[in-house]
Amino acid sequence: MASLDLININKVYPNGFHAVHDVNVKIEDKEFIVLVGPSGCGKSTVLRMIAGLEDISSGELYIDEDLVNDMPPKDRDIAMVFQNYALYPHMSIYDNISFGLKLRKMSKQQIKEKVEEAAKILGLEELLDRKPRQLSGGQRQRVALGRAIVRDPKVFLMDEPLSNLDAKLRVQTRAELSKLHQNLATTFIYVTHDQTEAMTMGTRIVVLKDGYVHQVADPETLYDKPANQFVASFIGSPQMNFMDAHLEEENGTVKVKCEGGYAQLSPEKNNVLKQANYAKKDVVFGIRPEHIQVTPGESSGENVAKVEVTELLGSETNLFLNMGSGPFIARVDPELDVKVGDQVKVHFVEEKVHLFDVETEEALLK
Ligand code: ATP
Repeated sequence: MASLDLININKVYPNGFHAVHDVNVKIEDKEFIVLVGPSGCGKSTVLRMIAGLEDISSGELYIDEDLVNDMPPKDRDIAMVFQNYALYPHMSIYDNISFGLKLRKMSKQQIKEKVEEAAKILGLEELLDRKPRQLSGGQRQRVALGRAIVRDPKVFLMDEPLSNLDAKLRVQTRAELSKLHQNLATTFIYVTHDQTEAMTMGTRIVVLKDGYVHQVADPETLYDKPANQFVASFIGSPQMNFMDAHLEEENGTVKVKCEGGYAQLSPEKNNVLKQANYAKKDVVFGIRPEHIQVTPGESSGENVAKVEVTELLGSETNLFLNMGSGPFIARVDPELDVKVGDQVKVHFVEEKVHLFDVETEEALLK
C-alpha cells in the first residue's frame, strides 16, 4: 500500500534531450493510474524514474512520506513488470515465480505459501511444474505477474505488459489485471500507448505528449471533458471529428457555423460562450461519431451530407460523411438504411458539442 507524489519532475538525458517536463501528479493509495500517450511522449521515462532505474534530473518524488529521489531501486519496495517478461527458460514456473524470494533467503515453507497464493490468484496452480515454453503467451505473462506479486510490493509498475499478446488475449488479460488490482488492493502504475487499455483499466489516467502532462482525470471526465484538442483526439475510437468553424450570435443564441452546416448549443454552453465574449470567434468544432444523428432521405439545405464510405462493424456502422469541408465519421445503427452516394441529414447533439481555441487548442467549454 502506498501513495506517490510527483512534484515538478523533469528528465534531461545526458545528451541534453529534455524528455519529461514538470510532471505533477499525486497518486493515492490503491489507485490504478495509467500513463498514456503516443510513442516518445515520456511515459516509460516517468515510470523508470519512479522505479529508480533512471535518475530524476529535477523535482521530488515521494513514496508515502519518504523522499526517494536518491533511494536505490531495491529499497523502494516496487515491483516492475515489462513487456518482455523474460522468464528463465530452463526453470519450472514454480522456480521462476519463487526466484526472487530465494535470493531474499526466505524459508522453503514461506516461499511455498507465497507461490501457491500467487498461483491461485492468477489461475496458475496446474502449471507450476511446467517450463515456460509449455505455456501460452498469456500464461507466461501471468507468471511474470506472479513473480511481482510474491514480493508484496507497495507499488506495481507495468510497462506495456500486454503488447506481446494477441488481440483476444489482450482483452482477457486486461480484465484479469483489473481483477488483480481489486484483489491485491495495491497501487498500480501502468504505461501504455493504447487508449482503450487506459480507459478500461485506469481509475485515473495521465495523458502525456512530448514530455508534458496534458490532463489527469478519470476516464469519464477525459472522454466527456477533454482539456484540449490533443486529449480529445487521443481518447476515443474512432476519434472525435474536428471541423473549422465560426461562432455566430442569432436571437441571443450562439450557433457553431461550419462549411455546409451548423451545430446548436445547449443553453448552458451558450451562456458560457456569451459570458466569455466568444460570440464571434473562429473555433475548432469537435463532435464524437456517436453524437451525430443521421436521417436518410434529405437532399438539400444545411446539414446535408453525402455518404462517402460505409463501414459495417457488426453492432454498429461507421459512416464517412462530407458536408463540403472534408470527411467526418458518424457512428450509427447498422439497421439504418443508407448506402454510399446517399444524401443524409445530420444533427449534432447540442450537449455533446466541443469547441477548441484555434491558437491554443484549449477547450472553450470546460
Ligand atoms: P514508447 O511508447 O515508444 O516506448 P515512451 O513514451 O515510453 O515511448 P520514452 O521511452 O519515455 O517514451 O522516451 C521519451 C523520449 O526520450 C523519446 O523521445 C526518447 O527518444 C528519449 N529518450 C529515451 N531514452 C533516452 C536516452 N537514454 N537518451 C536520450 N534520449 C532518450
